[in-house]
Amino acid sequence: YVSPDPINDVEQEVKEWASEKKTEIDELKKQAKFRKEFLSNLSHEFKTPLFAIEGYVESLKEDDLDPEQAKRFLTKVSRNAERLSVLIKDLDVISKLENREIPLNIQKFDLTILVKEVMESMERKAQNSNISLVFKDKYDVPTFVKADRDKIRQVLVNLIDNSLKYGKEKGTTFITIFEMHEQVLIEVTDNGIGIEEKNLPRLFERFFRTDFSRSREIGGTGLGLAIVKHIVEAHDQTINVRSTAGLGSTFGFTLQKVKNPLSNIPLINN
Ligand code: ADP
Repeated sequence: YVSPDPINDVEQEVKEWASEKKTEIDELKKQAKFRKEFLSNLSHEFKTPLFAIEGYVESLKEDDLDPEQAKRFLTKVSRNAERLSVLIKDLDVISKLENREIPLNIQKFDLTILVKEVMESMERKAQNSNISLVFKDKYDVPTFVKADRDKIRQVLVNLIDNSLKYGKEKGTTFITIFEMHEQVLIEVTDNGIGIEEKNLPRLFERFFRTDFSRSREIGGTGLGLAIVKHIVEAHDQTINVRSTAGLGSTFGFTLQKVKNPLSNIPLINN
């Protein structure tokens, strides 16, 4: 076969090649921008608690300090040190997840039991925030899923923790499991401050925090939801958020359901 118009063919090929290269370059540019932003966020996040520690330590050196004041400063120092240590831990988790250094340990387990366990472990924190944790399903209905149990625990902890941080005083956090055909959907719903629509697309980005959480100094690193998204996507599943400012938010993620829990994957019962 001889093409009727070889010059046109070559031209077409060159065009395709150029457009492919352009896409690659755009992608590299995007990654470079992302890295730059990440580093600048990172240094900002570290500087804030570090400067605070330096400031309080300076004040602690003053001679005429009364013990009450000294104690208050020391508490501040320890809070900021704690913040730095959480930041480092979260960053470590994120970088390991991104480099796929922590392989998924897929097991078959009863999600209902895990949810109940996580809720129990967070009950004290919920009471301190004056928020009730409510599981909307009956505890005795098992829902088997195939996933990395420890990582899904982390997802649940992060989502429930947020619902307590951004929830309404005397509010309620509902945890619901919906069974679908191939998957289950787990939703964590609060009736707290909610999220403005303009912030929804950026919510899962590393270090993203709304103005509200920054200004209120609610303890947090802005990494919790980025970790959640990584874990869910590593399972080839999806996470979504619906929210109305002032009314509350619902975070929902899916997991692969085990239709026949008696099949031969070992059953890790909790
Ligand atoms: P943080 O450590 O700041 O809580 P996250 O990554 O967990 O970091 O969340 C990012 C931001 O998303 C929070 O700072 C907060 O502004 C917003 N957010 C997360 N969960 C909720 C929620 N349940 N209700 C309202 N805002 C939320």
